[in-house]
Amino acid sequence: MTALQQTDPEIYKLLACERERQENRLELIASENFTSPAVMEAQGSIFTNKYAEGYPGKRYYGGCVHADVVEELARTRGRALFGCDHINVQPHSGTQANMAVYFTAMKPGDAYLGMNLAHGGHLSMGHPKNFSGIIYHVIPYAVRADDHRIDYDQVRDLARKHKPRMIIAGASAYPRIIRYDLFAEIAAEVGAILMADIAHVAGLVAAGQHPSPFPHADFVTTTTHKTLRGPRGGLVMCKQQYAAALDSCIFPGMQGGPLMHVIAAKAVALGEAMTQQFKEYQARVVQNAKALASGLLEEGFRLISGGTDNHLVLIDLTDKGINGAQAQEYLESAGITVNKNSIPFDPLPPGKASGIRIGTPAVTTRNMGVEEMRLIAGMISKVLTQYANEDVVTRTRNEVLELCRQFPLYPQNGNGILHG
Ligand SMILES: *Cc1c(COP(=O)(O)O)cnc(C)c1O
Repeated sequence: MTALQQTDPEIYKLLACERERQENRLELIASENFTSPAVMEAQGSIFTNKYAEGYPGKRYYGGCVHADVVEELARTRGRALFGCDHINVQPHSGTQANMAVYFTAMKPGDAYLGMNLAHGGHLSMGHPKNFSGIIYHVIPYAVRADDHRIDYDQVRDLARKHKPRMIIAGASAYPRIIRYDLFAEIAAEVGAILMADIAHVAGLVAAGQHPSPFPHADFVTTTTHKTLRGPRGGLVMCKQQYAAALDSCIFPGMQGGPLMHVIAAKAVALGEAMTQQFKEYQARVVQNAKALASGLLEEGFRLISGGTDNHLVLIDLTDKGINGAQAQEYLESAGITVNKNSIPFDPLPPGKASGIRIGTPAVTTRNMGVEEMRLIAGMISKVLTQYANEDVVTRTRNEVLELCRQFPLYPQNGNGILHG
């Protein structure tokens, strides 16, 4: 019996259920992944007990001797992996990482350019109920209607017209390469700070599967839990000239004590990301996304931008007679987890949305390959065209189970940390 089983059987049971859910369903949410047992071991560790306000060598509490080494390791690995001058590993999440840059680079009321939320931008790029839309003046830029690529001409025009303090390059639902070099040209022309938010593509960037925002961007933010496959959290990187201001903005500016257990897990994940295996994994993520895209095209689906360069595919459902919310629900009943997603120029509100977003990071971590992507494209097609047919849904659910059994998620079973 584990300690948790004994102390709190209710939560223990939910952990077991969640593990079972992750094990037996196809996880196609583009922002999710499965961390290694080593990352989970560090995240579920003794460091959760430690207060370490401040930075290595400059803490407000005693007893930080080991915390200092852990955080320094995380920083050294992060700098080496991404090739940046400075990194702060303390942000609790991707949104906190963005907040840190906004606070460092802008004053309340300042203007910035960010990607239109309906065209792939993230909540923290100007949603009216998010701090990024409340405190600052966001000027959204869009993708082109014909090819769904970022409209760099529009970005340039908006930059010239509004002279924003900052320009943000980054998205949550954009299946193509982001041209940081072009963004940098535009930012330089109008004297704006350039921030790249690589939350989604960080793993691809680290592995050379997507162009790096360095040396173009002044600030780079990311989550650690998406393609980077680490614990849930954020990172901020910047040029040396902003290092001191950024650090002070994060602590004491907007956070108290850092989550040292998460920082330990970030160090582990950054170490994993420096391996040859990780490089090969990211190459397979991209290969799989391309295979999934071509499978879906063959099944007659319309894809935003016609395909993908990265880890995700956006399906346009407008010609299928169902919306994104319905598609998400039908797929869920067949054991396939995706999320509804707005598409560029979406006629529906975000709660319904006309598309679904599908990503390959998680299934690729399970070692599924191109052949499985073909199967999955077929399953998605069957469910979305024959959702009213219970037999089809049940048969697909069984095919999903069989596929999951062939590609076990956490083969090293019976580990108390994983509650197997
Ligand atoms: C996921 C994401 C974030 C925020 O991450 P959280 O950890 O959920 O706060 C920020 N920016 C982009 C582009 C993202 O995709």
